[in-house]
Amino acid sequence: MVFMPSKKIFLRFGKDIADRPIIYRLARDYDLVINILKANVDQNKEGTMVLEITGDQCDLGLEYLISQGVKVTPLAEEVFRNEDKCTSCGACTAICPSGALYVERPSMEVKFDSDKCIVCQICVKVCPVNAMEVRF
Ligand code: SF4
Ligand code: SF4
Repeated sequence: MVFMPSKKIFLRFGKDIADRPIIYRLARDYDLVINILKANVDQNKEGTMVLEITGDQCDLGLEYLISQGVKVTPLAEEVFRNEDKCTSCGACTAICPSGALYVERPSMEVKFDSDKCIVCQICVKVCPVNAMEVRF
């Protein structure tokens, strides 16, 4: 399987930009797969959007957005666990809001299900050995 880079980004744009086919051109001209995770476009005010973009030309696509007057903020893409550091202390399981970190019985090992992770990053702050890491 070929690995395609992807990024999660937060966009903020004025109403003058909202009418232009910027997302369409982003996908077409930079050969990117666009997944709109959240969108809020108010007719009278600015719009906001959370996108996941996937493809080899992510960086060029971001430059295009910025050149069009869109304010682009990268979001944490992924939280992952450094298995070598984790001691299964359990401190993260009580605070993980999505159940991505949980105690497996009867082994009592702490497991991480990345599919359930919502990238809130709370575990990154509470882990005493810095086993939970953020990837941008
Ligand atoms: S807080 Fe850190 S060390 Fe403890 S179980 Fe969670 S990931 Fe592992
Ligand atoms: S980032 Fe949030 S949802 Fe993901 S494992 Fe950590 S606490 Fe759970």
